[in-house]
Amino acid sequence: GAVRSSVRSGVILFDLPRIVEELVFNSLDAGATKVSVYVGIGTCSVKVVDDGSGIPRDGLVLLGERYATSKFHQLADMDDASGSFGFRGEALASISDVSVLEIVTKAFGRPNGYRKVIKGCKCIYLGIDSDRKEAGTTVNVRDLFYNQPVRRKYMQSSPKRVLHSVKKCVLMIALVHSQISFKVIDNESGDELLCTHPSSPLSLLKSEFGVEVPDSLHELNVSDDILKLSGYVSGPCDGSEIKAFQYVYINSRFICKGPIHKLLNQLAIQFDCLDPWKINSQKQKRSRSQPYPAYILNLSCPRSLYDLTFEPSKAKVEFKN
Ligand code: ADP
Ligand code: MG
Repeated sequence: GAVRSSVRSGVILFDLPRIVEELVFNSLDAGATKVSVYVGIGTCSVKVVDDGSGIPRDGLVLLGERYATSKFHQLADMDDASGSFGFRGEALASISDVSVLEIVTKAFGRPNGYRKVIKGCKCIYLGIDSDRKEAGTTVNVRDLFYNQPVRRKYMQSSPKRVLHSVKKCVLMIALVHSQISFKVIDNESGDELLCTHPSSPLSLLKSEFGVEVPDSLHELNVSDDILKLSGYVSGPCDGSEIKAFQYVYINSRFICKGPIHKLLNQLAIQFDCLDPWKINSQKQKRSRSQPYPAYILNLSCPRSLYDLTFEPSKAKVEFKN
């Protein structure tokens, strides 16, 4: 009860990219090494296939009920920085509120696979299924937004834009999970929109964003007892594309543009010129063509240091101190 009320945020999964993000996070939590996302805008469907540990039958029985999670049992679990992306048990329940959710899964080391179909948080089918031979999970979201005509219309009004944001969202996850292969496939055209083999963030930036990796880029790895900061950072670089190359993650979760970027930009200039007067005058004159640092930084820290339930999309966090 205490756990529920402290983590609940009434999460609303309002668009396809957020739904994909939650499903991919579940795959990562299950230890997947390959995650494939099939998007069908016309058919209002999305399918995520992984080779993770799968879900045993007793877990599958509960699945889809709000707050049914296998990941978060005590408030103390919040201090586990290496912990999972999930913890509320709200994602699948929220998705099944607005779709028909089918899960086909085979748990590692178990003889049988199972299939469960949930609609409106209610189980409408649960039985043995022999579709999957290897351990892993396929989550199939069909008839998405069947009861939300406005959201459905919005999604279908611009398939290109939606596909692009789904791809971008998986790419942002891939940038800090270089040991995992991700695919995004457009079900309607059969096009492969994204295919990352285990690849370094730098090669992804080059191939997917067309960003020239600056020469001054350094690998960064610093830590103390509580915090660990890792990634890449450069000195101020010329080129307008650099602003598209500023990523901050907290516990491998991407954080949207915000005050932290302002601070990092300012710090980079300080280190570059070490002249406080120059900083002040540069602050006013800043334009697109002026130099910015490039960075991909991932801060690992206990979850109790910040508040993730601040915004339903979890794209913003608030540090308590
Ligand atoms: P949370 O991730 O917060 O636990 P979700 O609603 O996203 O909540 O998922 C509920 C539960 O379903 C998870 O705790 C996990 O046990 C199981 N689950 C969901 N997706 C997968 C998956 N791809 N592989 C293995 N287990 C999964
Ligand atoms: Mg989850």
